[in-house]
Amino acid sequence: MTIAARKIRLLMQLRRAGINDTATLAAMERIPREAFVPRSFLDQAYENIALPIGLGQTLSQPQVVALMTQALRCDASHSVLEIGTGSGYQAAVLSRICRRVYTIERHKDLLEAAEARFAEMRLHNITSRLGDGARGWPEKRRFARIIVTCAAELPPEPLLDQLDEGGVMVLPVGGQGRGQDLLRLCKQDGIVSEENLGEVRFVPLVQDLPRAAGGQSA
Ligand code: SAH
Repeated sequence: MTIAARKIRLLMQLRRAGINDTATLAAMERIPREAFVPRSFLDQAYENIALPIGLGQTLSQPQVVALMTQALRCDASHSVLEIGTGSGYQAAVLSRICRRVYTIERHKDLLEAAEARFAEMRLHNITSRLGDGARGWPEKRRFARIIVTCAAELPPEPLLDQLDEGGVMVLPVGGQGRGQDLLRLCKQDGIVSEENLGEVRFVPLVQDLPRAAGGQSA
């Protein structure tokens, strides 16, 4: 089966799974998933499965990427912050829908590979950096949309602070080895409401310890 035929089959699977947002489907049609997976998994690029990307990390199942993208309800007026660049696929999909994507990854090798893909595909509205995404994007005050593609026990406070009024955050919450819930948080008049979008499985959000400042106190 050709790549084009596999892609069409996947898009039909996504529709059957309840993905009906045309911007999400169009973006996933445009971004070549095969460019984001290791060579040895090329023939599985359009299967509806998660794939390993090295360093124990995974590129999410297309259906989960689609569900999260649709759940964000983003448009061309929005700046989006993503935590967990990984292969760069989710950021690339969002870059076709939103004004700008800011994405943070803690593994240098993964970040550099993703940045090379963004450059190759001329996705110039993606800004990426190395760091601990749980602390947010330091120089920016607020984001209209935030997406976290690794699971924390609780939504990180700095991200809740960095979510704009009227903003939406989509993230998996829960530990490893048991169910995680995909949540959509909406901030309205300073109050955050929560919606559960179903069970998911993500690699953990790893918090980098703050650098010791001035040694230990007695
Ligand atoms: N969105 C990615 C999926 C990446 S898997 C894609 O489309 O391919 C989750 C990623 O989150 C991993 O690459 C992992 O290294 C990264 N990660 C985990 N904790 C993090 C943290 N605190 N800050 C930034 N990235 C983190």
